Amino acid sequence: MSHPYQQQDFMSFTRANEWSSEQTQDFTLENGCHVEVWDTGVIVFEPPQEGSKDIILSCGVHGNETGPIEICSDFVQDLLDQKMLPAHRIMFLFGNPASMNIGERFVEENMNRLFSGAHSKSPGLCNRERIRAKKLEQYVDKFYQLNSDKERIHYDLHTAIRGSKNEKFSVYPFLHGKEYSKEQLQIMLACGVNTILLSNGPTTTFSYFSSNDYGAHAFTVELGKVRPFGENDMTRFIEVRETLKAMIVGGDMQLRDYQASDFNLFKVNRAIYKHDDSFEFFFADDVVNFTSFPVGFKLASEGDVDYKIEAEGEAIVFPNAKVANGNRAVLMVVSTELP
Ligand SMILES: [Zn+2]
Repeated sequence: MSHPYQQQDFMSFTRANEWSSEQTQDFTLENGCHVEVWDTGVIVFEPPQEGSKDIILSCGVHGNETGPIEICSDFVQDLLDQKMLPAHRIMFLFGNPASMNIGERFVEENMNRLFSGAHSKSPGLCNRERIRAKKLEQYVDKFYQLNSDKERIHYDLHTAIRGSKNEKFSVYPFLHGKEYSKEQLQIMLACGVNTILLSNGPTTTFSYFSSNDYGAHAFTVELGKVRPFGENDMTRFIEVRETLKAMIVGGDMQLRDYQASDFNLFKVNRAIYKHDDSFEFFFADDVVNFTSFPVGFKLASEGDVDYKIEAEGEAIVFPNAKVANGNRAVLMVVSTELP
């Protein structure tokens, strides 16, 4: 029954080693599941019988987003304790343990803007988040070995700063004209996610990296509002837990037939950037994601520039007036259908 994470569980090991660890592991459990630890927060499970998928579940890329961290931590411990036997190779990534420890989104820089090589662009690998993002890319690369014909999946699990009109939503990375997967949308629906934002261009998020570089079915999955450790209402995560668990063990995910009417699909209409400290919003801090305003409504201003609602049904996503100058302050979206 023994494995190295009985005295100190994997989450505690991860939080005790904030940026990296030389304590790699390689062992096989009695049930035949092979386990490798490649770094702090990086653990891979290989089933005794070869599966058809290579699955990555990542969380804690923003350290204060505790719900997904608790979900993944529970899966890891259940797999180690042989309460679950995986049917597919699966890697868990806990992105930013140092920011988990201080209960903040990040230490020095938002890690979910550092993928697809952005970590090494100007000004270079100048902080630990950039170094960690580069390592996470290398672990994804190692996991999705070359010449694999397996279906690749990467769900990067988050919670949002604000509530959402639809509590859970996913961002579908830009596919460069490739077809959207209806089966993946059915899986999202089974996870309790019926609102999908179709991204309109390359980004430096973790999910776009896996989608674009490895052809993975990848999503940034927002599972609700940020709360401190221990304060999550875990009943809100039952559907996502059960669906992901079924995926991991090869059980029935209980997918419904695809129906367009089950989903709220949005596409990006435009992004509004903050250039200087005079930037301000004219809606309250508790206005939730996907709230729409009437055409002409003054949304924000910066100096003598006003930003107004341009399109019928135009709604806000990820508004943040506190971003650094030069960054996106809000994404403006409108409803759409699958092409
Ligand atoms: Zn996040």
